[in-house]
Amino acid sequence: MKYVAGLRCRECGNEYLVSPQHVCELCFGPLEVIYDAEAIAADVTRAELDRGDTSMWRFAAFLPAPDERVDIGAGGTRLIAAPRLAAEIGLRKLWLKSDAPNPTHSFKDRVVSVALSMARHFGYEVAACASTGNLANAVAAHAAAAGMKSIVFIPADLERGKIAATTIYGGEVIGVEGSYDDVNRLCAELAGSKPWAFVNVNMRPFYAEGSKTIAFEIAQQLGWRSPDAVVVPIASGSLLTKVAKGFREFEQAGLIENKPVKIAGAQAAGCAPVAEAFVAGVEDVRPVKPATIARSLAIGDPADGYYALQEVRGSSGSIANVPEEEVVSGIELLARTEGIFTETAGGVAISGLERLVRSGAILPGEETVVLITGIGLKTLEVTRGESPTHIIKPQVEALAEVLSWQ
Ligand SMILES: *Cc1c(COP(=O)(O)O)cnc(C)c1O
Ligand SMILES: [Zn+2]
Repeated sequence: MKYVAGLRCRECGNEYLVSPQHVCELCFGPLEVIYDAEAIAADVTRAELDRGDTSMWRFAAFLPAPDERVDIGAGGTRLIAAPRLAAEIGLRKLWLKSDAPNPTHSFKDRVVSVALSMARHFGYEVAACASTGNLANAVAAHAAAAGMKSIVFIPADLERGKIAATTIYGGEVIGVEGSYDDVNRLCAELAGSKPWAFVNVNMRPFYAEGSKTIAFEIAQQLGWRSPDAVVVPIASGSLLTKVAKGFREFEQAGLIENKPVKIAGAQAAGCAPVAEAFVAGVEDVRPVKPATIARSLAIGDPADGYYALQEVRGSSGSIANVPEEEVVSGIELLARTEGIFTETAGGVAISGLERLVRSGAILPGEETVVLITGIGLKTLEVTRGESPTHIIKPQVEALAEVLSWQ
């Protein structure tokens, strides 16, 4: 970890050595990893990054990256042009950064690859987390590959696909009777007494850094530049703040030009505390009780909500508040126009993008990237189509009876 300079409190600026610690001893503010930016700028070149492998770890200089890593292939996903969706929405240039092809089919593999690499570096033998679903999948899978025990905590009534995709790896899956916020409170308490690496509690400063690799990949894939706008679904707000940080760090390293990037967010109306604070023009996020089909985004008291608001406001971005019924229509629109089946969070991002364009928050000429953070196969219960569109006898005439357009 040649370039990691330590941890720094986001509130008071007090600095700490790299350790499994996530809050400041002086002010209880959240800690963030800091780097030797000058050394990175002096050493890292575009050519070298273009030559490297395509995993997210090619950006190791910008990550807490111990020599031994837990790597099952996270990251390195493609940036896909979306001309048909762009035309429907009224944009001239639109790209999808689809993280569905990750090992456990969401962007959470990126953050967990970093968190568990650090957990092993610190000597932990047990990986744990509080999860809205996708994080549980990723922790269980990476822990299995690392030979670690895993214990993940989820709301007991989570989508069945997400539970099945977690139990398969053989770890403990604890369903908690309550919301994600209840699960998270329980884990914060447990983290104080158990010698476990909670990826989004005591490992959170390291975990969060993994999200920057999405911004790094976008900039590289666009030919070493940033887009005009990026649309990010918000749960805790960590992904959004780190995507913004990723573009900034590439600018500081001289890899891309200094250029404003509109950072835009999206939440589903049934759990939209950050979107509501944005509209109200207030700095602090007031917690809500989640009631949304977008379970992966159902965090009523978002840890990074305050910082997400700052990034959005500071970049002239905006946050869409997506009505619940538009979550599924967003999923369908993306599938129908671009052939990509995303989960509810992706439906929120697509319908959010539509609203941001309609309201003028994103202009038709602005080159936009929307983050598709997870796969639709894990949230099948919200989408239609559990039966074929037609059922026929095995006869040619039978087809003619049901198909009008042949
Ligand atoms: C966790 C998650 C998010 C948002 O993550 P935060 O960093 O907590 O804001 C977005 N999409 C999907 C599919 C997720 O699982
Ligand atoms: Zn502090």
